[in-house]
Amino acid sequence: MMDKKSVRIALIGATGSVGRSVVNVCETFRKRFVLHSMAARNNAGALIELQERTGCRVLALTGTRRSREFEKRAASGTRWLHGDDALVEIALDREVDLVVVASSGVSAIKPVIEALGAGKRVCIANKESLIAAGKWISGSVRYENQLLPLDSEHNALWQCLGKKCSCDGVAKLVLTASGGPFLSRPADSLAHVTIKEVLKHPVWSMGPKITVDSASMMNKGFEIMEAGVLFGCEPERVSAVIHPESHVHGIVEFFDGTRRMAAFTPDMRIPILCAMAYPDILQWPESPEAPPVEEVSVMTFLEIDATRFPCFYIAREAFKKGGGYPAFLVGADEAAVNLFLQGKIAYREIPALIEEVIEEYSGHDPSCWQEAVEIVKEGGIRVREKTGESAYDDKG
Ligand code: NDP
Ligand code: MG
Repeated sequence: MMDKKSVRIALIGATGSVGRSVVNVCETFRKRFVLHSMAARNNAGALIELQERTGCRVLALTGTRRSREFEKRAASGTRWLHGDDALVEIALDREVDLVVVASSGVSAIKPVIEALGAGKRVCIANKESLIAAGKWISGSVRYENQLLPLDSEHNALWQCLGKKCSCDGVAKLVLTASGGPFLSRPADSLAHVTIKEVLKHPVWSMGPKITVDSASMMNKGFEIMEAGVLFGCEPERVSAVIHPESHVHGIVEFFDGTRRMAAFTPDMRIPILCAMAYPDILQWPESPEAPPVEEVSVMTFLEIDATRFPCFYIAREAFKKGGGYPAFLVGADEAAVNLFLQGKIAYREIPALIEEVIEEYSGHDPSCWQEAVEIVKEGGIRVREKTGESAYDDKG
């Protein structure tokens, strides 16, 4: 039975790391959140497993691999949708109140723009779409807090801003980074790190792409751009620091000399619930425990070292340059990280390759989000060309 205050959700990227945390929040707060539809790219098996847990009846797959066998395994009465248009269809469904975007890549740009245009609230974790097409996504927002951040640092900043997405009165937004697995490794030893070492994040458990980006701090560079889009803030007013204890996730400094910080346990379910329940504050039945404040004896904030973390500075440059640079960087980084995860390039080649292709890029300013998507693709093609790989990725 649906509660009067139930929120019906379309979840894009249900089978990933963030998507599963969203499902967990929906399961914990069954009366409040009802999963109306779920989408993934190819992982039909995982979608069906999530359907068994949640009873969700609309399932969508955008990838090219279609399996009738899986479709038969789904609960009777399941409605299957296929192809890229499926994301727009589930986002615009009249029965959906809230669109939650937990997919990777840029496939969510169109459904997000359309959902915002139709007046639906959107909670978003997907940073690639925000970075590549920020202008068109933020331009589609119709009312305050229609687009809410799930990414922990942005959710923390939003809390510090008084649950608003506006930077009025703000001198600086500061995001924190844990420092990842290589915080105390000498920079010259990073030439030989293995995939396993890169994937061993000390604080967060995440999908492989973002875990590599967290080790290199490209993720933090992406996140300052994401903050620029979400809060309408220019590059000069957004920065990041390393905070190895990971208590604080975002800091806002105001013009009047006051400063607010938001702290919570590093568990994605916390920012997810905070955004999805807005404007309410819901109580966890069994809370993801925060340490008592008495135990938080040390809080360190450090500058991001450019020799160990060049990717952060590459991204900051792209943010400052604007135009097509952020979109190009999204594509170049995705391709470089995939090549690293396939064992085709060394960890240190990620920034080297990206810098090389950015240097050769014209910086063409996209005039629409479709053009921005083409620039993302171009970034990937240029990186793969440099390594002698086929220019086109074979992912479905
Ligand atoms: P994962 O790789 O774990 O999951 C990606 C999800 O997106 C999968 O469900 C995948 O489906 C789906 N997906 C990818 N492409 C498409 C597509 N074209 N159509 C439909 N579904 C698609 O990623 P994460 O959960 O780690 O990250 C997701 C996003 O959230 C990224 O943008 C990341 O930067 C951001 N983020 C992640 C955090 C984390 O803790 N992991 C924290 C903050 C932000 P399939 O399984 O079929 O491939
Ligand atoms: Mg983050």
